Amino acid sequence: MIPVKGFAGKRVAIFGLGRSGLSAARALKAGGAEPLLWDDKPASVMAATRERFTVENLKNADWSEIDALMLSPGVPLTHPEPHWTVKLAQDAGVPVIGDIELFAQTLAALPEHKRPKVVAITGTNGKSTTTALIGHILKAAGKDVHVGGNIGVGVLDLPEMHAGSVYVIETSSYQLDLVHSFRPDVAVLTNFSPDHLDRHGGMDGYIRAKKRLFMNQTAAQVAVIGADDDWSAALISEMRVASPVKLVPVSARRTLGQGVYALNGVLYDGTGPRARQIIDLKTVRTLTGRHNWQNAACAYAACRALGLEPDVIVAGMRSFPGLDHRMQEIGRIGKVRFINDSKATNADAARQAMSSYDRFFWIAGGVAKAGGIQDLRDLFPRIKHAFLIGEAAELFEKTIGKDAACTQSRHLFTAVAQAYAEAEKSGREEIVLFSPACASFDQFTDFEARGDAFKQAVKEISGSILTGETLAGR
Ligand code: ADP
Repeated sequence: MIPVKGFAGKRVAIFGLGRSGLSAARALKAGGAEPLLWDDKPASVMAATRERFTVENLKNADWSEIDALMLSPGVPLTHPEPHWTVKLAQDAGVPVIGDIELFAQTLAALPEHKRPKVVAITGTNGKSTTTALIGHILKAAGKDVHVGGNIGVGVLDLPEMHAGSVYVIETSSYQLDLVHSFRPDVAVLTNFSPDHLDRHGGMDGYIRAKKRLFMNQTAAQVAVIGADDDWSAALISEMRVASPVKLVPVSARRTLGQGVYALNGVLYDGTGPRARQIIDLKTVRTLTGRHNWQNAACAYAACRALGLEPDVIVAGMRSFPGLDHRMQEIGRIGKVRFINDSKATNADAARQAMSSYDRFFWIAGGVAKAGGIQDLRDLFPRIKHAFLIGEAAELFEKTIGKDAACTQSRHLFTAVAQAYAEAEKSGREEIVLFSPACASFDQFTDFEARGDAFKQAVKEISGSILTGETLAGR
């Protein structure tokens, strides 16, 4: 745990007692602050009481005595409307902060020679892959690395900071809305596409939140920004004029002067006087697909900014094991290969997996995002048959119906069994791709549980085929 510095003797209200709320409470207490905890859910309040925290209904609190409000990332700051705690805090002139801000203030409180290096990653898609890849490359290079934030361990649950180590932190737009003084040594933004717009009041608000990652950077820091969508390209142009930071643009599509780019999967470092070929990413199984070339290019630029030599970075990339639930090949039954891409919670993420295969049997559905799968039309000819699950099943059939065969499978297990049966019939090498293009919460707790259910279904089907058991009625 990282004891929070700079708040000793101060009262910090915490609303939202999920994982990050409780760990912030522990970290604040360890640093000598007085956290005051509250939540709408009685069970969460009970859990806080059991840990002997001070629990107080913040509706009745004396806000003139409170120094900060720490909000969990799940609690709305501005949209659809500010949470009542936010209104009370703002009326009393109390700053509203999040766990990354507590981390930032703790970092700033350390004397310079004791500070670790910090790399922070954001973007609509590819955050976790890029974060894990950077962490892996640094570890493989023998660095003392801690990876956390929006991935795995919450930022304040990481080990206490010390000089010589590197903290690699994934940050979401919700978390960035709540930072004020964060100044990562290297800040990475992979890309922008419309997501979570309801929470940020539209695309402008969403971009504004992500931009906060760069707002305190000076000429001593580095910003790595993907240049492959119009929003990111606009941000690069804007920062070239308005920010003193050292900017490294990154592309997985085209040559960039003074940037890092991948052309047909071959990664080039164009930051020097002459572009230098680094690695053919097509030879790294866990970094296939243009989207992963973008992630790899970002990771390369970030690791270079930390002083790693190109050949050391290449060695790290080659041994990257990949992440669960992201285009993960989980096995095959006969000639049918099963790909778990449960992490694809929006159409843009599903596009990456779908464009990596020429033909596939597609399992999709769940809770659709705005726009559904309209944007994926150009890929529909690749779908041999779609098996649809969850709330979005009917909507998706309406969208795809004319271009590909569809089955309303409703449940994931049924979909896997049906997709396997159909794929196996063809007698050739086939792919069953589970890339839902939807959120999971109509049928699962999260994308991890959904991906695990997919793996389990494949395992059971494989087992029942071996034993000759029938799958009917499941
Ligand atoms: P995040 O943490 O931002 O949600 P992940 O690295 O977990 O991103 O990847 C989630 C899914 O998004 C992957 O399964 C893949 O299909 C897709 N994806 C990964 N990287 C990118 C990228 N750079 N651009 C677009 N889509 C991507």
